[in-house]
Amino acid sequence: MFERSVLIAAHPDDEVLWFSSVLWKVDRVVLAFRDYDAVPGLGQCRAAALTELPYRVTCLGIPEAGSWHLADWADPRITEFGLALNSSSASRRYEANFRVLRSRLRAELTSDIAVFTHNPWGEYGHEDHVQLYRVLEGLRREIGFRMWVPTYSSTWSAALAARYARSSDARLCRFPVDRIAAARIAGLYRKHDCWTWWSDAPWPAEECFVSTLNEVATRQEPSAIPLSCVALPQ
Ligand SMILES: [Zn+2]
Repeated sequence: MFERSVLIAAHPDDEVLWFSSVLWKVDRVVLAFRDYDAVPGLGQCRAAALTELPYRVTCLGIPEAGSWHLADWADPRITEFGLALNSSSASRRYEANFRVLRSRLRAELTSDIAVFTHNPWGEYGHEDHVQLYRVLEGLRREIGFRMWVPTYSSTWSAALAARYARSSDARLCRFPVDRIAAARIAGLYRKHDCWTWWSDAPWPAEECFVSTLNEVATRQEPSAIPLSCVALPQ
């Protein structure tokens, strides 16, 4: 499953937060976003960190839309661009990012590759992660590559996760996490002041990935997908 494989994640550090068990197995890593208006200088810090990462990584350098926290996570509304946001200016940037991502990523993808990317509820619940999933799910339907998403979730993203189920032919794969190697990457991001997770060590002993998920009309039992719930800031 790692032959001609690419890990595509939204923000620099997502690749080690949500994909650490496959980070050293994939052929290459593509990260979408770099600058973030709300945190001046973050993009430069990220660019510096990226030069030190011990894997093949490229960043598309797209400015973040500033979508964080703008969806109604208690009752999220899925749109063609990701999730409905409660800010018209952020929505415009978010929609523009969807188009740029779709165009840039289409050029990277062929039918014979395996793509690892965010799940449709954005792991703990990030609007940009949801958007990237929707971009890639659309491209998967068009191009036909294999796709795997992690099963991380949180109390925040649970309502959205409940709208998905494994398709009948979906596969599950589990891989052990090398927490020491992951912590070393986190240390690189911290050194450059651009580690964005709230704690030091979110990693479980192993990660689970699932292929093809379907949106479902009725709420699924949590056991339908083996969710791995992460702790959120208190
Ligand atoms: Zn992220």
